[in-house]
Amino acid sequence: MDAEDIEHVAVLGAGTMGHGIAEVAALAGFDVALRDIKEEFVQAGYEEARWSLEKLVEKEELTTDEADAALERIDPVVDLEAAVSDADVVVESVPEKMDVKKNVYREMSQHVPEDAIVATNTSALSVTELSEALERPERFCGMHFFNPPIRMQLVEIVPGASTHDGTVAAATGLARAMGKTPLEVGHDTPGFVVNRVLVPLLNEAAWLVHDGVATVAEVDSTARYGIGLPNGAFRLADRIGLDVATDVLDYLHEELGAAYEPCPSFHERVQAGDLGRKTGAGFYDYGAESGSDIPTDAVREDVERRLLAVMANETAKLVGEGVATPEEVDEALTLGAGFPEGPAKLADRAGLVDLYEALAELQGETGAPRYAPAEELVRRAGGGENFHHEVSEIEAETAFNDIGLEIRDRVGHVTLEREHRMNTITAELLDELEEAMDALADDPEVRALLVTGAGEAFSAGADVQRIAGSADAIEAVELARAGQRAFARFEECDVPVVAGIGGHCLGGGMELAACADLRVGSHDAEFGMTQHEIGLLPGWGGTQRLPEIVGEGRATELILTTERYSPEEMAEYGFLNEVVEADRLEERAFELARDLAAGPPVAQRYTKRAIRAGRESRDAGLEVEAQAFGQLLNTEDLMEGITAFMGERDPEFEGN
Ligand code: NAD
Repeated sequence: MDAEDIEHVAVLGAGTMGHGIAEVAALAGFDVALRDIKEEFVQAGYEEARWSLEKLVEKEELTTDEADAALERIDPVVDLEAAVSDADVVVESVPEKMDVKKNVYREMSQHVPEDAIVATNTSALSVTELSEALERPERFCGMHFFNPPIRMQLVEIVPGASTHDGTVAAATGLARAMGKTPLEVGHDTPGFVVNRVLVPLLNEAAWLVHDGVATVAEVDSTARYGIGLPNGAFRLADRIGLDVATDVLDYLHEELGAAYEPCPSFHERVQAGDLGRKTGAGFYDYGAESGSDIPTDAVREDVERRLLAVMANETAKLVGEGVATPEEVDEALTLGAGFPEGPAKLADRAGLVDLYEALAELQGETGAPRYAPAEELVRRAGGGENFHHEVSEIEAETAFNDIGLEIRDRVGHVTLEREHRMNTITAELLDELEEAMDALADDPEVRALLVTGAGEAFSAGADVQRIAGSADAIEAVELARAGQRAFARFEECDVPVVAGIGGHCLGGGMELAACADLRVGSHDAEFGMTQHEIGLLPGWGGTQRLPEIVGEGRATELILTTERYSPEEMAEYGFLNEVVEADRLEERAFELARDLAAGPPVAQRYTKRAIRAGRESRDAGLEVEAQAFGQLLNTEDLMEGITAFMGERDPEFEGN
């Protein structure tokens, strides 16, 4: 059976996942038989599919005709023979119990066509063991969809020990035809890729609370605002369902040993019937409202280090066992679990050496087997190797808390990463900016810089709460000086600097943006010099740089009125060089920085210097310009530029 020959799909089990898989298959144009053991179950699944299709119409993602046609293609049945007898592919999505699934396979064996492919949507069970109940195990594999199938992009394709390559190819083709991204897992291993990383993470979160190290609020605040997982850890567990998560954990424990011992909180809650959102209570109580908000300000560094260390360890095991590459682990967790960034990338940022040390310390303190570092992690940390090879030395050596640093295509990309506080600026963040600039200035590979903010804002300015709470007058002067120094590094550095500005760009955020050479804003950006609102004044160079960019009149207006301005107005004032759609901001700002990185480094450096010198006096600026002009005549770059121009090709400037 090739993917192109597939027309009829049978989905066994019309529950949470089954109805969703049927919906996705029907939308892709397949005829679908949706089967469950009782008429009421199958009808309930069918109604769920109808409801979901109607939602898509409401959101204008589908036309009414398309939704009707998809529903028409779903045939709800109870009779097993009728469901599978003309199936090209059977997707089994019955409860996660080895014997239940095996019984289903035995029951259907005489009705399934010989060349049909049978796939299981199991979350973690061994595909090889399941295949023992089939007459043709070579035509069997895992097709692991994520909840809800209509929204989640990933499908893990899992071969069992006997699975033929053709079966994997057909299942992969089917997933693609359904508009999904298939990930071929290297081999059958408990939890495959996503659950093998995700579920131990949830387990560690639970252990942290169980052992009295942290509260639910602290763990979720850290997971959400420190690491960036949209639902934190406990919210995510509640959403998945504690019964489902506990089943997976038990299975990992049984198959892989003591390192996966479930935290007792899981079984306690499941026994009490608190299965998460679906029952109204889990780690959170969803009684009256939808569970209390995750606090933005309870992030704890030690908790973050521990959660990242556990994720890095699981990632290392998967990589070491040949189940997936670091890139595949990252893709799986971003597409299958909604991580904004994959665990390998997160681990690289934190530094593998540090995470290895965290595990070793925890193992020493607690003796718990789950902290035993994976061989692959020991090897990589010991050899100074990251998960991703393109991570530069700088990134490996400098682990920051409040900023991110990445070097790609000769662009040093600095991201303000205090998303939970709208990337507001603190003394610690300023220190990190200076440290990052030191490292970047030493790297000849870096030919342009890009500054952006993580999440929804560029920066909402100084973290006034923190500053007001701690600083006396002398400290405040020092803080102003520290900001002036750190921001000036961008203005004074030799390479061009681009700021990519989305969301709030207020007060100190605007002062930082003012230090860039070029500024790209998104349509959703909002600008304002807000310092006077609270009786402060711009302390990080705003009174000096803004007039130079927008003129004294506009700068005074901005500072004195404290009004908010649109990106279009800021473009008109000359503050923004370009305004782009919000979803293109990062891409466009990076593109601009990358183009500047291809420019002539020496000419760029002197141009910046001449402009700066000119601010002090016109004569000084003209002198720098003339001197630089002379210097440039002797550079190899000039020869290269002229030769390239004559040869009608792009120049390759080296800075010589
Ligand atoms: P569910 O309990 O919602 O649905 C299972 C359905 O199977 C029920 O309607 C049940 O009546 C039916 N069923 C039982 N025996 C059957 C049989 N012999 N033939 C046909 N139907 C039968 O469970 P679910 O959450 O949809 O999980 C189904 C499978 O999908 C499990 O293997 C699970 O691990 C996996 N999975 C679940 C999720 C999730 O988030 N819920 C995500 C990915 C994979």
